[in-house]
Amino acid sequence: MKSISSALISVYYKDGLEPLVRLLHEQNVKLYSTGGTQTFIEQLGIPVTAVEDLTGYPSIFGGRVKTLHPAVMGGILYRRELPEDLAQAERHRIPPIDLVVVDLYPFEETVASGASDEDVIEKIDIGGISLIRAAAKNHNDVLIVSSRDQYADVVTLLTEKKGHTDLADRRQYARQAFAVTSHYDTAIQAYFSADETDSTGAPSINETIYDFRSLSASHLRYGENPHQQATFYGDLEALFTKLHGKELSYNNLVDVDACVQLIDEFTDPSAAFAIIKHTNACGVATADTPKQAYLNALSCDPVSAFGGVIITNVPVDLETAEELNKLFMEILIAPGYAPEALDLLKSKKNRILLQRNAIALPTVMFKTILNGVLEQDKDNQTETAAQFNTATNKAPTESEVRALEFALKICKHTKSNTIVLAKENQLLASGVGQTSRVDALRQAIEKAGSFGFDLNGAVMASDAFFPFPDCVEIASQAGITAVVQPGGSIRDQDSIDYCNEHGMAMVVTGVRHFKH
Ligand code: 5GP
Repeated sequence: MKSISSALISVYYKDGLEPLVRLLHEQNVKLYSTGGTQTFIEQLGIPVTAVEDLTGYPSIFGGRVKTLHPAVMGGILYRRELPEDLAQAERHRIPPIDLVVVDLYPFEETVASGASDEDVIEKIDIGGISLIRAAAKNHNDVLIVSSRDQYADVVTLLTEKKGHTDLADRRQYARQAFAVTSHYDTAIQAYFSADETDSTGAPSINETIYDFRSLSASHLRYGENPHQQATFYGDLEALFTKLHGKELSYNNLVDVDACVQLIDEFTDPSAAFAIIKHTNACGVATADTPKQAYLNALSCDPVSAFGGVIITNVPVDLETAEELNKLFMEILIAPGYAPEALDLLKSKKNRILLQRNAIALPTVMFKTILNGVLEQDKDNQTETAAQFNTATNKAPTESEVRALEFALKICKHTKSNTIVLAKENQLLASGVGQTSRVDALRQAIEKAGSFGFDLNGAVMASDAFFPFPDCVEIASQAGITAVVQPGGSIRDQDSIDYCNEHGMAMVVTGVRHFKH
């Protein structure tokens, strides 16, 4: 256990500091401080020595050099148990500094405020970072409090241990200190990386996402499960205006992302609705009116829709809101809401209502795996009739082609292995995330039947090729008449032959859409 005889306090944000300063004073700790912090402490009526009196140097260059001096750095860094260090400290009249309390210049906040480059550069803390590094390095002798978030914790620690700390405490604070400095430097590096700008002068959205640690961080209540901590890095407010409801959770955000990706497939003028559960669509439909699109999407699987996340590509009017209001849903996302529709939908306290703003999204995605990170382009390719090559004797009818296009849009955004069954403007059922495509198809057929859909004349989309003719066989027996799949299996011909023998149409696209 070590006691604290003296402390250097130099903090940007002074709020929350008072209890710590008072405690240190009560525990007879000698206080040193810099300009603004010194004034704050003096105003509390507590004696404090200006760091200038310790160094014999004034704060110079507009505060750029305040604490960068051997008397300060030496007082933190000398090894208390090393006779040579002790002798040198004595010879140079360097008093010990046993506790360092720093709250750095708010660099990230200044960047986020849109401040000028000059102001941002001035907010690169120099002395504060050095104080933190020095104190954390010498945690054997010194306790480092490296952020205002720790004021309350350190008050508890020093109260409980009566002004003493043990090595484990100091090491833990040192670890947090290096997390603070590395985060800080990463933010600075990200700011400079943004110099690589696109033609508009702004960093591209992909560059911004690469520097995600410099994006504003929102701590989420928890992660995928309550025992997992989680943070969202990014500017949700730019993408959505939240009109109502509780805080978005980690799982909500993941589903909202799935919703946005899927609905962006539907660009023609008709209204589209999609209902998402655990990132997969359990209802999708397009229609002439928003109400009809919603009702058709809901009828696809009203059981799964309970507690779902819903998105539409058109503004929500009152008659659609009246239908939506009957369903327990987590989130509704729309480009706009009629005022009466909004009033009605707000009647449920927790329901989250988001208005989506038209801003570009990154075109890359990341995933941590093993001891690294995978990066890839998003699956931004969608095949339409122009890319459909008929493989069978029979070509799909015009209506089947539209249904195949519709099914493929959903298939792309459904977890593999998947089979999507659809008609021209409505998802009928899908099999999601199965270990075999046959299982996916069986699941889809059974599901469609359980919700009363007749699959005669329906179409099927597959995320990947058929290695055997079993899928087309099962599909044909269920009444399905047209199929879209990438093709490319060495046994493609077996599936094509089966279709030819049973009057089915098959088109191949040459493009696989796995979603793992
Ligand atoms: P004060 O309000 O006490 O005048 O300044 C406190 C801030 O100054 C803290 O954020 C601290 O990290 C920072 N700081 C302390 N010493 C130095 C220094 O030598 N140079 C620079 N640029 N900042 C310092």
